[in-house]
Amino acid sequence: MHGENPGIAAPNPIDATATSPQRYCYYCRKPHPEDQMRAVESCVGVRWRCKASIKAARQDANLREAWGRAKSEANRSQARHGIEHLNKLLRERETA
Ligand SMILES: [Zn+2]
Repeated sequence: MHGENPGIAAPNPIDATATSPQRYCYYCRKPHPEDQMRAVESCVGVRWRCKASIKAARQDANLREAWGRAKSEANRSQARHGIEHLNKLLRERETA
């Protein structure tokens, strides 16, 4: 072992440039660092998905729920409004 210096570990250029382990996110269809990933159970087995997409989906679900509530309320008022509108149209047609 002539000429080697065991006291100083030479920086390995491969290790130095290696990024943190990546996992393929089926949701984004691209790899993310493993520490941002979560294994989720799906019908085809365990798949990896990033926490950001899970969070986004949760917010999305909340939004959808809120939207659904708003829409059903709108439908109720729109149904009333729709009848009024129809009556107005019929009246206009009669007077025309
Ligand atoms: Zn992702």
